[in-house]
Order: sequence, then C-alpha cells, then structure tokens
Amino acid sequence: MLTDMHVAIIGGDARQLEIIRKLSELDAKLSLVGFDQLDDGVAGAKKQTLQTLDPTSIDAIVLPVSGMNSKDEVESIFSGETIKIDSEWISRTKKTTTIYSGISTDSLRNLLQKYKRPFVELFNRDDVAIYNSIPTAEGTVMMVIQNTDTTIHSSRVIVLGFGRVGMTVSHTFRQLGAKVKVAARETELLARAFESGVEPISLNELENHAENSDVIINTIPDEILIAKVIAKMPSHALIVDLASKPGGTDFRYAEKRGIKALLAPGLPGIVAPKTAGRIIANVLSSLLIGQRKN
Ligand code: NAP
Repeated sequence: MLTDMHVAIIGGDARQLEIIRKLSELDAKLSLVGFDQLDDGVAGAKKQTLQTLDPTSIDAIVLPVSGMNSKDEVESIFSGETIKIDSEWISRTKKTTTIYSGISTDSLRNLLQKYKRPFVELFNRDDVAIYNSIPTAEGTVMMVIQNTDTTIHSSRVIVLGFGRVGMTVSHTFRQLGAKVKVAARETELLARAFESGVEPISLNELENHAENSDVIINTIPDEILIAKVIAKMPSHALIVDLASKPGGTDFRYAEKRGIKALLAPGLPGIVAPKTAGRIIANVLSSLLIGQRKN
C-alpha cells in the first residue's frame, strides 16, 4: 500500500487516469495538477495548481509520457492552462522526491543535473517497453490495414530492428500470415530472428531485399531507410516508421518517389490508452512501493 505517500501527478493524457485510479486504490495521497477539466472525482485525490501545492510535502512527481518540453512545460489534455515547471519550485522539493517521466528530454536532464533529484525514465525500462510493444504492434497492424488494399496474410513484410518493438511486431505480422523478414546488424539478433521463424537479413543487404517487399516497418531510430533503399522499393509498397521522431526514413525522397511513408509515433496511447495507462500504472505502483520501503 502507499498510505501517506504524497504523489503529485502533473499533466498527462488518458493514460494518467489509469495511474490515478491505481494509486488511489493503493491509498496514496494524490495531488493532481493540470486536471481542472477532469469531471470525475477520485478518492484521495485533490486538484491543485503548482502555486497551491507545497513542494516540501511531495514524495514523488509523475510527469506525462512526453516529459517536459524545451520551454519547461508539460502537456495536459485535461487543462486549458499551460503548466510550466519552474526550477525554483523543484529546488524546494525534498532531496528524496523522485521524478517519474515516460521519456527524458533535454530540459528535464538539465533540471535534474542542477537539482539532483532521483529520476526514473519509465519507457527506458525493459518491462514497460516490452509490455508497450503489444499495443504498438496492434497499432501497426491497424495502420497497415488502413493504408494497403491487400491482406497482411501473404504480404511481404520487412521489419527493421529486432529489439523490444521489432520482436513483437515481427511475431504479430508472422502470426497474421505475412512473409516476414527481419533486418538487424547484430548476428545474435539475426540468429534469434531465425529461431523465431522469420527470415533474417543483414542490414547491409537491405537494399537487395527492398524490391521484394510490400511493407517495410522501421523500429531503428537512425537513418536506415535511405534513398538508395527506397529507390529499390516497388511503387505500391508502404513504409510505417515506428522509431522515435524524426524516424529513420528519408521521407522527402519517399514522397518524391510516390511511396507512402508514415511516421507513427505514440501508437499505444492512440489505439489502447487504457491498456497503455495500466502498463505504466502497474510498473509505477511497484516502483513507488519500493521507494516507500527504502
Ligand atoms: P530497442 O529495444 O532499443 O531496439 C532498437 C533496435 O534498433 C535494436 O535492434 C538495435 O540494435 C537497433 N538499432 C539501434 N540503432 C541502430 C543503428 N544505428 N543501426 C542499426 N540498428 C540499430 O528499442 P525499442 O524499444 O524496440 O524501440 C524502438 C523504437 O521505437 C524507439 O525509437 C522507440 O522510441 C520507438 N517506439 C515507438 C512506438 C510507437 O508507437 N511508434 C512505441 C514504442 C517505441 P542493436 O541491439 O544492435 O543496437
């Protein structure tokens, strides 16, 4: 239980509602900042502003998945007000006040470097990333269905990268009957891809395989789908780029060649906000219980 633990939830989207519900069930004392347009009340939760919230009383701060932008602001879909985290406010929190955020940003890193508060980047954790790969793969299936006029079954799909997202995406498309190839740079990953029933190809050979593809799904956050690869793709082929912005595709060249290329960030929050919220809520609550014990 999280009885007497004071958690400030600052900004967010539908995913935060699952976090609020879960932490409320665990009896945490919740202060919600940036939730003035949220109609439903939650037991143990109080709507606040940064001005009314006493920073010295807070044990943990939960920021949105997107963290804090370059203007030190956090997003909230439940408020029309801009929420700016001023560094003086953070400086008044306890040294042990832990900050949890989906991703880290330069401004957040700068703030933490200055004030040295414990920080957890939730999306960098394997457990969150692997659970999150499930709605990501489902969202990718949705995008491919919406943007092609053939079935996934029997289509030739190349997945670039075989990390947490690449593995789930390739399994999902294989289970739907697609002919899946996986391109990765590490030989161990290629061996694992072979073991899991997909055809491994070296990233260096991508250019030679591109002409035999209907869909290419990129999960590598680097310049991978470059012009010489796109030049070989058939004109009907689709690119879905899942890698974090700006993706790994030469979108300008794809457009010039008339190949549809879509950057698809944040799929879990779009296709399954409730599940995506529960994934964060479950991991976050275990971390808070651990923090409380220490
Ligand atoms: P990950 O587990 O780190 O996997 C990344 C893969 O890319 C690994 O196979 C890695 O290979 C490879 N890679 C990285 N840099 C490379 C390079 N320069 N050249 C060749 N291969 C390279 O990451 P993940 O969790 O799967 O996430 C992948 C991307 O998807 C991230 O950008 C993440 O932010 C994004 N994402 C998007 C969504 C969405 O909704 N669109 C959802 C979740 C995640 P090595 O092991 O050899 O480094």
